[in-house]
Amino acid sequence: MTTVAIVGCTHAGTFAATSILKQHPDWTVHVFERNDSLSFLSCGIALWVGDHVSDPKRMFYSSPKALAEAGATMHMRHDVLDVDVAGKVLRARDMNTGEVGEYRYDKLVITTGSAPVVPPIDGLDEALESGRVLLCKNWDHAMAIKERAGSAKSAVVIGAGYIGAEIAEQFSEIGVKTTLVDALDRVLANNFDATITDDVEQAFDEHGVTLALGQKVTAFRPAAGSDGIEGSGVTVVTEKGEYTADMAILGAGFRPNTALFADQLRMLKNGAIVIDDYMRASLPDNTVLDDVFAAGDSATVRYNPTGADDYIPLATNAVRQGLLIGENIVAATKRYPGTQATSAVQLYDLAMSATGLTAGGAKRRGIAAKSTTITQDYRPDFMLTTTPVTTTLVWSPVTRRILGAQFLSKHDISQAANVVSVAIQAGFTIDQLAGADLFFQPNFSQPINFVGAVAIQAVAES
Ligand SMILES: Cc1cc2nc3c(=O)[nH]c(=O)nc-3n(C[C@H](O)[C@H](O)[C@H](O)COP(=O)(O)OP(=O)(O)OC[C@H]3O[C@@H](n4cnc5c(N)ncnc54)[C@H](O)[C@@H]3O)c2cc1C
Repeated sequence: MTTVAIVGCTHAGTFAATSILKQHPDWTVHVFERNDSLSFLSCGIALWVGDHVSDPKRMFYSSPKALAEAGATMHMRHDVLDVDVAGKVLRARDMNTGEVGEYRYDKLVITTGSAPVVPPIDGLDEALESGRVLLCKNWDHAMAIKERAGSAKSAVVIGAGYIGAEIAEQFSEIGVKTTLVDALDRVLANNFDATITDDVEQAFDEHGVTLALGQKVTAFRPAAGSDGIEGSGVTVVTEKGEYTADMAILGAGFRPNTALFADQLRMLKNGAIVIDDYMRASLPDNTVLDDVFAAGDSATVRYNPTGADDYIPLATNAVRQGLLIGENIVAATKRYPGTQATSAVQLYDLAMSATGLTAGGAKRRGIAAKSTTITQDYRPDFMLTTTPVTTTLVWSPVTRRILGAQFLSKHDISQAANVVSVAIQAGFTIDQLAGADLFFQPNFSQPINFVGAVAIQAVAES
């Protein structure tokens, strides 16, 4: 009988366990997880802070009990201390008893995910220890943020990516005076071009969020909090100023949690385990390992707009890759189709969605790209109401292929990014998208839908 060891169980681990057990109900599947819960949807943290969550317990879609019932041997509150990849054995410490056990396995599944980036900034370690600065990733972090947000009058959020922007938005909505700091000179700078982020910055401004952009944080210092909680209060020092608040949230990105496998497996420079189309890891010399799989935030993705291995920590990738492990654990049979890193976010009344490369992202990677932007109402103006959609299409002037798209509107345009995502995955050119069959019906769309319209405009500009 085959024995599998799964290390880490949030999204990639949960989906890997269920897919393996579905295909091989008679196998022994050991699941090791440090936490006492699994499958936590971190995307709900900001929404919970803003009281948009019906019941925080519903931010989990599975449980140790459910996986045990599916046939897994669960080792919750177990910290995997080391893994001998070549020897097929690992050691895990029971965090309740302190006991260390040794486990032999035939196949290894690495779903250890990611950890928040904690840059080496003066005073940060102490600020994290004392709770003046909080991280935003797992259930424990979520509870700490929710509790503090109940009494804090002010906050500094460091990092204006999706996570920082969403937290800052919700803080401002519940009356916490918020400063949003980022080293880059725009909010959401890695996800959207300025055609979109200018409007977002205006929305932050209108809601009283102070934007402190284009400035690196250089130090954290304890300060007197105004919420009466001992040990609260922090001054965030940047290259351009000092911001004092009752609490700070650090959202400076994520790094793969793969130290256990250093020097044993091939990794990108940042520590992401390089996997092939069948989720198989390889030795540092590139030899593919048939019995070692990785998925989710601990691993690379194939990024279709560039065709290269990349690091894009998203639950969508973790889920799809985790599922594929069950399909490929005996033999390489089902290929991973890659990702466009398609995503969406709602800030105030602005809906935004994106897929593939931004113009800025293409430039950073040295890829020739042109960008076409249009703004048109999503449906005809004979309707009693309508509202504009700003659409940016990023495309290659060399191959004419679509590289990316971004959308912003007060209307729900989230599905538009999914349409272009599929087009990129299928290798569409701007000409193909311009001629694609997209419906017209006045409740929903113009005679020429904004997705087709931007492609037609790109063809005209080519
Ligand atoms: C605030 C926030 C909002 C987000 N919003 C979205 C969103 O809207 N859409 C989206 O697609 N993505 C979103 N993401 C990203 C998404 O949450 C991650 O991509 C996803 O959690 C990755 O899942 P994973 O299972 O690969 O890794 P992780 O979630 O990092 O889980 C890894 C697990 O491994 C365990 N582990 C690690 N090492 C060990 C060890 N040695 N022993 C035992 N256990 C170990 C950890 O305890 C953890 O439970 C968001 C992330 C955050 C933080």
